[in-house]
Amino acid sequence: MSREDYEVVIGLEVHAELSTKTKIFCSCPTEFGGAPNTHTCPICMAMPGTLPVLNEKVVEYAVKAGLATNCEISRNSKNDRKNYFYPDLPKAYQISQFDKPLCENGEIEIETKDGKKTIRIERIHIEEDAGKLNHDEFGGGTLVDLNRAGVPLIETVSKPDMRSAEEAEAYLRKLKSIFEYIEVSDCKMQEGSLRADVNVSVHKPGEPLGTRTEMKNMNSFRSIVRAIEYEVERQIDVIEEGGKVEQETLRWDDVSGKTFSMRDKEDAQDYRYFPDPDLVAIKLSEEYIENIKNTLPELPESRKQRYLEEYNLSEKDAKLITSSKYLSDLFEGAIRVCNNPKAVNNWIISDISRILNETEMEPIEIPFDSNQLGKLVILIDKGTISSSIGKKVLVELFENPRDPEEIIKEKGWIQISDEGAIKEVVSKILEANPQSVADYKGGKDKALGFLVGQAMKETKGKANPQMLNKMFLEELNK
Ligand code: ADP
Ligand code: ZN
Ligand code: MG
Repeated sequence: MSREDYEVVIGLEVHAELSTKTKIFCSCPTEFGGAPNTHTCPICMAMPGTLPVLNEKVVEYAVKAGLATNCEISRNSKNDRKNYFYPDLPKAYQISQFDKPLCENGEIEIETKDGKKTIRIERIHIEEDAGKLNHDEFGGGTLVDLNRAGVPLIETVSKPDMRSAEEAEAYLRKLKSIFEYIEVSDCKMQEGSLRADVNVSVHKPGEPLGTRTEMKNMNSFRSIVRAIEYEVERQIDVIEEGGKVEQETLRWDDVSGKTFSMRDKEDAQDYRYFPDPDLVAIKLSEEYIENIKNTLPELPESRKQRYLEEYNLSEKDAKLITSSKYLSDLFEGAIRVCNNPKAVNNWIISDISRILNETEMEPIEIPFDSNQLGKLVILIDKGTISSSIGKKVLVELFENPRDPEEIIKEKGWIQISDEGAIKEVVSKILEANPQSVADYKGGKDKALGFLVGQAMKETKGKANPQMLNKMFLEELNK
């Protein structure tokens, strides 16, 4: 049997930090960063005798996430203790949800090059994040920072419905964009507010599912894809050599491009789950759920549909822009300023996307706002600057965002549209390039492009290209 005959099976457990102002069981801020152990209190530091109180917003956000992913919302739910010891968890248990999660049986649709596919969601539950261990490079010890302890999370567990790294990536991107749209999480992967445990197995079609391995806490799409591809090959090798895949937790190492064993897989029974006696059961009324349903904003799919109709975007562009709420808001905001959807679309799908890719920046990190992008488009539309200067303004907007008008004044980038000045440049270039003039007159139309290029160079890209073209033609055809 050849390697291609194996079927790959992937399931994801995705943790998203909720963007509530305060933690899940106390009123400490959830803000990222801060000096170690400054966003803490006796409750999230697990002092004996303290009592947790569930933050209502956490329930609201989780229900929102459930509704946006077509889950059933449980009317009766509760919190459970998941017992284990680790130095970043001073209580020695995590408050999570075991057998009665808030949301169950959802699904979302993904799109890959093979078309649309539905991925089922088993559950979404709420839980608290743990602290962070800082391994001190200099002192050699390990320091505990509890700022993150008690930050609320939702964990979304998919069914093992994905069949390739591409599908897993598409699923995670879709989930991320939904959470961004409903504003329950900022989903900043580099800051760890969105991270995935990736479960992978292989089997021969028709046979039962293979044993899975789990790669924990992955927070970049590229690593996830690489890790899945590596792990699939590794598991097939094991089976082809007559071995058995062990169920275990693995660590993906981005530098060596390999997975390493961390520990044997633990089972639910290892955690001794039991209902947290310090917290009351969560009972939700129909009315409460209905009210949240009514606050759900327009989701990516329907925004995309609207862009096709309202702005005539191509399917591909509409998909790219609506894949991120931040890009989509940038798009709509800029259009309100400049009223030129086509130009804004082009900026986003070409130059802005390219810069994001090159700098590995997420759309949420774009430093300029839609107003500034809209103004840039207006400056080009009015002919104040050429589109090639526009590209330089965009780079400035990424580096040091300010009013585009201010940028071009400060840099002296205003387009030369003065007839006298253009004429002067044209004469100078014609004089300096007699060969090109002769070429053009001899029928080589390409020579015109060269001359315009030289004039652009001479004016550092500031000459109005249409005027240049026109004036060169006039002179050459005299
Ligand atoms: P645990 O917390 O022990 O990892 P969960 O039930 O929370 O267990 O998550 C299991 C994850 O593994 C789910 O996303 C599920 O879809 C996935 N999964 C289960 N069986 C397989 C399998 N054979 N191959 C790949 N993924 C699997
Ligand atoms: Zn606290
Ligand atoms: Mg797991």
